[in-house]
Amino acid sequence: MLRPFETKGLVLYNRNFREEDKLVKIFTEQAGKRMFFVKHAANSRLASVIQPLIVADLLVKINDEGLSYIEDYHSVATFPKINQDLFKLAHATYIAALADASIHDNQIDPALFAFLSKTLDLMEKGLDEAILTNIFEIQILSRFGVSLNFHDCVFCHRVGQPFDFSFRYNGVICPEHYGKDSHRCHLDPNVPYLLNQFQAVRFEDLETISLHDEMKAKLRQFIDQLYEEYVGIHLKPKKFLDSLQDWGQILKKNEEQNETNSH
Ligand SMILES: [Zn+2]
Repeated sequence: MLRPFETKGLVLYNRNFREEDKLVKIFTEQAGKRMFFVKHAANSRLASVIQPLIVADLLVKINDEGLSYIEDYHSVATFPKINQDLFKLAHATYIAALADASIHDNQIDPALFAFLSKTLDLMEKGLDEAILTNIFEIQILSRFGVSLNFHDCVFCHRVGQPFDFSFRYNGVICPEHYGKDSHRCHLDPNVPYLLNQFQAVRFEDLETISLHDEMKAKLRQFIDQLYEEYVGIHLKPKKFLDSLQDWGQILKKNEEQNETNSH
């Protein structure tokens, strides 16, 4: 017999199963990531709690060998501002997919659950979704077994220098040691500086972080390089986010051009 118990859960995605049923992947606080079976999903009273990015208190029956079941639910929370904004939604979907990819099924990780929920809360509150995403990406690297030093030079351990990053040495190098790696990244020194901040940032400090678009683009580009080199996963929501950003740039350029033409 499966004993029902209560846990918070965040819906990662759902997909159709047979004619009318659905399989729902939920990241639960108490039992990790699980696949739930919902019979006759469209007509089920569970229909409103199985949409992506919904957080709810669930009464569940967990099955370690196969599909799990939702018995009941209360306190359903949605993210209306995220859902109304295509850019926010694309970022939120990507970090949920990243959390999904970073842990195995059934692996209990309440710290990651709290981190993902809090990040979505802050996105909903209106904090910059690109910066929140970058912080999430940097802090979740450890779940992929990656630990990088953005804090002190890998050779002399000096801190507070205009650092560059070296893929050869998996860390930052100071101007005195730039010569050790002829393929160093030639980063804007603010990039490793910010990544070092992001590694240890507290949520209370986040409301004060604001960055120019140019710096955000540099962070985006370098974090992509880090993921390519050290993580090597290619998530569909990330590809969507990238194409959305390219598209956003084109729109912006057209607007600027129209403005110049009309003057
Ligand atoms: Zn050094």
